Amino acid sequence: MFDYIIIGAGTAGCVLAARLSEDPQVTVALLDAGPAATPPWADCPAAMPLLTRRGGGTSVVQPGLNGRSAYLPQAPMLGGASSIHAMLYSRGDPSGYDRWAVDNPGWGYADMRPYFARVESALQVQNLPQPSASSAAFVAAAGQADWPHAPHFSSTSPQGIGLAQVMQHAGMRTSAASAYLAQHLQRPNLQRFTGVQAMRVLLRGRRATGVEFGQDGLVKQLDAARAVLLCAGALQSPQLLLLSGIGPHAVLLGQGVATRHDLPGVGQQLQDQVAVAQIYHAPRAPGLLGWLRLAQGALQWRKTRTGPLTSNWWEAGGCVASQPDATEPDLHLGFAIGKLLDHGRPTLWGRGFTLQARVLRPASRGSVQLASKDPFAAPLVDPNLLGQREDLECLQRGLRLLRHIAQQPALAALGARESRRSALAQADLPLETFIRDHAQASGHWTGSCRMGPGPLDVVDAQLRVHGVQGLRVVDASVLPCSMGDGTQAAVLALAEKAADLLRVDNTGG
Ligand SMILES: Cc1cc2nc3c(=O)[nH]c(=O)nc-3n(C[C@H](O)[C@H](O)[C@H](O)COP(=O)(O)OP(=O)(O)OC[C@H]3O[C@@H](n4cnc5c(N)ncnc54)[C@H](O)[C@@H]3O)c2cc1C
Repeated sequence: MFDYIIIGAGTAGCVLAARLSEDPQVTVALLDAGPAATPPWADCPAAMPLLTRRGGGTSVVQPGLNGRSAYLPQAPMLGGASSIHAMLYSRGDPSGYDRWAVDNPGWGYADMRPYFARVESALQVQNLPQPSASSAAFVAAAGQADWPHAPHFSSTSPQGIGLAQVMQHAGMRTSAASAYLAQHLQRPNLQRFTGVQAMRVLLRGRRATGVEFGQDGLVKQLDAARAVLLCAGALQSPQLLLLSGIGPHAVLLGQGVATRHDLPGVGQQLQDQVAVAQIYHAPRAPGLLGWLRLAQGALQWRKTRTGPLTSNWWEAGGCVASQPDATEPDLHLGFAIGKLLDHGRPTLWGRGFTLQARVLRPASRGSVQLASKDPFAAPLVDPNLLGQREDLECLQRGLRLLRHIAQQPALAALGARESRRSALAQADLPLETFIRDHAQASGHWTGSCRMGPGPLDVVDAQLRVHGVQGLRVVDASVLPCSMGDGTQAAVLALAEKAADLLRVDNTGG
């Protein structure tokens, strides 16, 4: 019996485990489907595409993507998405948090500031150690195109283009596992279970009492005295609720799962920040990909943790408002130092760079459903990318803005030439076809266990599942709207705050 059982040692789960086990009187079990160790090369920032291109799943067919399925990069490993992601750190836009707080008191930007401070101190967020000259050229070109300069991504002025701040330390990736968990694994009150697949939350009446999980082909159980904390991420937390009989009755019935609690919003309202990229050939840009350069870079990184392999690829970018009357940014414009498409799945050699537009506040909503009641089967994920026309129009504006930046002297000096793949798409209709044929999921999925007081909301402002005692969801799935940039900082701060909420309400709710 443990006081708390945390399902998912990902981004949020590692923070919670570290914070809750600070109290030696409190016992914590932390479960994750991934293995106990990550390969040492995973700490190398430039290895990011090698991590994101493997192990992911696919969405259901997306009508908005001309009938393609989207690749969904995922990370069954300690640290979860924080162990594979692009390391970009940004608090986002204060207005996103303030909008969140309208229905959910306590989650406004002012409320979250102390939690960002804790996160930033734990992670030691820093400027890129050795940005490439081509990233500096992109920032200069953005200035030449009259975009303001963003000095750093934690400022309260959300607009502008600049060099990235990253989750790195001493030339290595910082994940939630390395920053929060690693140094506390010896605590006697914290027990970690790896390679275990949570199958469902155990309930007695309307109270969560533990978890059933699979390990080495056996089905086992753990009991929780205070609470079960679901931190399995926005694609798996709703799946686990559904497998436990918590969700829309009709959907559960259809899958042969007995309804324990009819909660219509579970798995609904999924959103992702759909993105699309243009490749540029640039013969005068410094390159990372090339056998000799890679070998030299790898040697330098192994010896001194310095050099070009400290790059996170997406070295520059920022949030912009793409319409003259807009009051807040609607697009992220990103710059990668090589030719990087769809999470690195095709390997593209040669000197050049990638420009990417990402919708910050998508209008499209999708869902996570059960494919079957088998807990080992992947869920049906439908992010409904480009389901709403305004998301498409946002990306059309984004690609045009990026082209304008690419034509500025600072990037033209690198010999930048847009690849034929996108260059042929100039007028509205060809641009729409290009976007629908090439847009991708970003991995910034949220909303599938949305926080709020409404009929389609799943948790309350204390992160408690509506109508169920002793069960909270603490991960990206509860975020009800976009916070105006990447989701990592918001999830880390959310987990810090969740630990405080649990300390105050030590019955587990
Ligand atoms: C490829 C990619 C790049 C990104 N880049 C950035 C970026 O640069 N900046 C940014 O701000 N945001 C970025 N994001 C988004 C950000 O990383 C995520 O929003 C955030 O990390 C999600 O955290 P989480 O705790 O909700 O889930 P996760 O970190 O995904 O954790 C979920 C954990 O649960 C475990 N799990 C799931 N199901 C089970 C089960 N049944 N049993 C046991 N364990 C289970 C998983 O193994 C995993 O460890 C990126 C995301 C992706 C995917």
